[in-house]
Amino acid sequence: MINIILFFFSRFRLIVSFRVIFFILFFCSNIFSQDILVEWKNKSNSDINTDNPTLEIKRILKSENIERKLDEVCNSYYDDENESFSEEQANKILDIILSTIGASKRFVLKACKNTSNAFATTKNGIRYIIYDKEFMEEINSNTNYWFNMWVLAHEVGHHINGHVLAPDLSIEDRRWEELEADKFAGFVLAKLGATLSQASLPLDKLNHPEEDNLKSRYPSKYKRLDAVKQGFNNAIGVPTFYKKTVFNSAEEYFYSGYEKSIYKDYYGAISDYTKAIELNPNYAMAYYNRGVIKNELKDYERSIKDYDSAIELNPNYSMAYYNRGLIKDNLGDQSGALDDYTKAIEIYPEDPIAFYNRGIIYKNKEQYYKAISDYTDAIQLNPNYAEAYLNRGTVKNILKNYNGAIEDYNKSINLNPNIIAFNNRGISKNNNKDYNAAILDYNKAIKMDSSYADAYANRGISKFYLKNKDGACEDWNKAIEFGFDNAKQWIVDQCN
Ligand SMILES: [Zn+2]
Repeated sequence: MINIILFFFSRFRLIVSFRVIFFILFFCSNIFSQDILVEWKNKSNSDINTDNPTLEIKRILKSENIERKLDEVCNSYYDDENESFSEEQANKILDIILSTIGASKRFVLKACKNTSNAFATTKNGIRYIIYDKEFMEEINSNTNYWFNMWVLAHEVGHHINGHVLAPDLSIEDRRWEELEADKFAGFVLAKLGATLSQASLPLDKLNHPEEDNLKSRYPSKYKRLDAVKQGFNNAIGVPTFYKKTVFNSAEEYFYSGYEKSIYKDYYGAISDYTKAIELNPNYAMAYYNRGVIKNELKDYERSIKDYDSAIELNPNYSMAYYNRGLIKDNLGDQSGALDDYTKAIEIYPEDPIAFYNRGIIYKNKEQYYKAISDYTDAIQLNPNYAEAYLNRGTVKNILKNYNGAIEDYNKSINLNPNIIAFNNRGISKNNNKDYNAAILDYNKAIKMDSSYADAYANRGISKFYLKNKDGACEDWNKAIEFGFDNAKQWIVDQCN
C-alpha cells in the first residue's frame, strides 16, 4: 500500500505489475555440451551415418529468474555511468530518518528510474522502498526538502509499523495504515526540526479526498492532518504510537544478512541469516537466502538442506524448488532435478529458464517430445530465447525433422549468431543431402573459430558425399589436429 502522490498517480500501475527484485546468484555453468561428435558407423562400406548428433547449449544461468520481471519497471540507476547520486548517499538520508527513532533498517532501499518519488512496497515477502534519483537529489539540494523528507518518512513509517502493504487489504485497514504512516511522518519531521506547518504542508499535494469517503483508500485530509499533528506532538513527549514490540529482530537480522550478501560478505550474511532463523525458526525466506549464499560458496549439500527447510515451511516456494533443482542438475542427479523443476513450474509457470532446463533433462532422458514441448514453452515466454531455439533444433534433428531443425537454427542464428548453431544447421542440411549448403555453414563456423574440430570433421563428411575425397581427407586431418580423434579411423578407411 503505496503512497501515491497526486501528480504522479499513474505510477500506481507500475507498482501493480512490479515483481521482485532479489535473489541473487546461482552458480554459473554456462557450458556447452562437449559430448557431441560426428560418428561414422559403417566404416567397412564407406557409407556415412546421417544421424549426426548435434550440439546443444546447456543450461544458462539465471539471474533473470531472480530478478524476474523487475526490470520492466525498475532499471537500477547503478548501471548508469553518469550517475551522480550514489546508493550510499541515499542510505545516509535514510539513516537520518531512522536515527530519529533509533531503529535499524528493515527493508531494501532500491533506486528505480521513472518512479518520480518514493514508495513502500513488499514483494515475495521482501520490504522495499523504491525511490527516484531526482527525488533524493531534491532532498540533498534542499529543493522540496521537507516535502521529500515527509514522503520518505511516511514510506518508512509503513515498514516500521509492519504494514502488510497488500493490495487485498480491506479499505478500512489501508486507511488505518495510511494514518499510522502519517503519524510517523509528523513525528520524524518534528525530530528533524520542522515546524508543525512545515510538517502539515505536504498534505496539500498528496492524494486524499477532502471529505471522508469510504471508496478511497486514503482517509480524508482532515484525518491525515490530525495524524500528522499527533505524531508531531509525540516527538516532544513519549512516542506512544511507536511500540518497540512491533519490531521483529529476526527481520532485522534478515535485512542485515541481505545487505551483506549484496556486498559479497557471504560469511557475514550466513551468520545474520542463522541468527534470524534462531529467533524465528519458521523464517522460510531466511533459509532460502542462506541456501543461496551457501550455494555461492559451493557448499552444495548444506545449500540443499536450507532449500529443504524453506520448502518444508513454504511448500509453494517456487524459487527454492528451482534452485534446489539446479544444484541437483549440476551434481548429476537428473531425476531429482526433474522433480524440482516440475514443481517450480507448477507453482510459477512463467519462468522460461525453468522450462529450458527441464527440456535439457527430457532430451537427455530421450523423451524428445516432452523436450520439444518445454523448449516451445520457453520460447513462448521469451521469444528471443536463442538457446531454446537451438536446443529445440537439435531435438528435431534427432527426430529426423531436418527442415524443422533448420528453421529453429535460423531463428537462433538471427538472434545470436554462434558457431554451434552454424555447425548444427550444417548437420541438418547435410542430413537433408543439401551438401553444398551444409559446407557454407561449416565455413561460417570455421571462420568464427578456426580451431573448431567438429566443423572440420563435419565439412569433411559433406565433401565426401560430394565425392571430393581430397577435400574430405584434408578436413579430417585438420579435425585430428584440433583434437577430434575419431577422424583417424576415417582417414585409415577412406584416405588411402
Ligand atoms: Zn502510504
